[in-house]
Amino acid sequence: MKITEHLSNTDKTLFSFEILPPLKGQSLKDLLEGIEPLMEFNPPFVDVTYHREEFIYKKHPNGLLEKISTKKRPGTVGICAAIMNKFHIDAVPHLLCGGFNKEETENALIDLNFIGVDNVLALRGDAPKTEGKFIPEQDGHHYACELVEQIVGMNNGKYLHEETENSFHTDFCVGVAGYPEKHFEAPSMKFDLKYLKEKVDKGAEYIVTQMFFDNQKYFEFVEKVREAGINVPIIPGIKPITTVNQITMLPRTFFLDLPDPLMDELEKCKTNAEVKEVGIEWAIQQCKELVKVKVPSLHFYTMSKASATYAIAKEVF
Ligand code: FAD
Repeated sequence: MKITEHLSNTDKTLFSFEILPPLKGQSLKDLLEGIEPLMEFNPPFVDVTYHREEFIYKKHPNGLLEKISTKKRPGTVGICAAIMNKFHIDAVPHLLCGGFNKEETENALIDLNFIGVDNVLALRGDAPKTEGKFIPEQDGHHYACELVEQIVGMNNGKYLHEETENSFHTDFCVGVAGYPEKHFEAPSMKFDLKYLKEKVDKGAEYIVTQMFFDNQKYFEFVEKVREAGINVPIIPGIKPITTVNQITMLPRTFFLDLPDPLMDELEKCKTNAEVKEVGIEWAIQQCKELVKVKVPSLHFYTMSKASATYAIAKEVF
């Protein structure tokens, strides 16, 4: 079922979450068993992230370095199939511009359609860690709005080559990313919103936000998005802080601020266990306030570790 249908079938706030494919060499069984407790809260959908290739350097006996491209977390499509099979809920694969040309994107969408996926989160992706800036593949997409256009084109029976035009129409519901604290490359919020609107104008039907720790930032973002003439649902992304490392890693990686009252509590913590307790309590308060204003869904960034999300959902749902 489409995410938009899940959202319009109820006026209650839904529970949903995102997982990462396991590192290459680790088992899917552990991941699926790990998220099983979260089924208690009836998630109508689970997102599965996509991880593009990274470059590693292999040293040869003659001292030369060989640059090798490798994917550390492959398996997004397979995990989606496994989730739908095991839990009978929708799985939403993330699909990137980065690392794909248009032909590969088209073929990936055909695979997703054939396994029964109804929704896709369309993203640009970032540059590989060893590269400074995002560079599209030759004949690939530069921005997420172009990817949205291709997916919506297939929904209208438009394939890349003329001979397949007027063929089978897919029917994907397309989601896109939004940034309450602005995307880090955008020179201003107004600029960022202009391109968020472009994604929606091209056919995106819902927005999932980057994580935020200050609800006021989400409320102001929603207000500005509406002022910009964007009317699709905006699903807030929630991430409980669970380790000492995340206190500095999350702001650095995702370009966001931790509010002072949260930092005051986190600074008193000496261990991961103490941080997790503070992080869970903060997220519970955030979620309770968001439920009060009837956000469409609370979408948890679990990073494939379910225990903190479980503890929060138990208090909120
Ligand atoms: P875009 O919407 O293309 O925007 C990128 C930047 O370009 C923005 O600054 C925007 O303002 C600007 N821009 C957009 N269009 C134009 C245009 N036409 N002309 C000029 N400027 C433009 N990354 C992964 O690798 N895998 C994942 O699974 C993944 N999942 C995510 C899920 C969510 C909910 C979120 C919020 C992010 C996720 N990301 C993921 C990270 C995402 O790929 C990065 O944040 C990336 O840098 C931007 O992606 P986007 O789709 O928002 O890009």
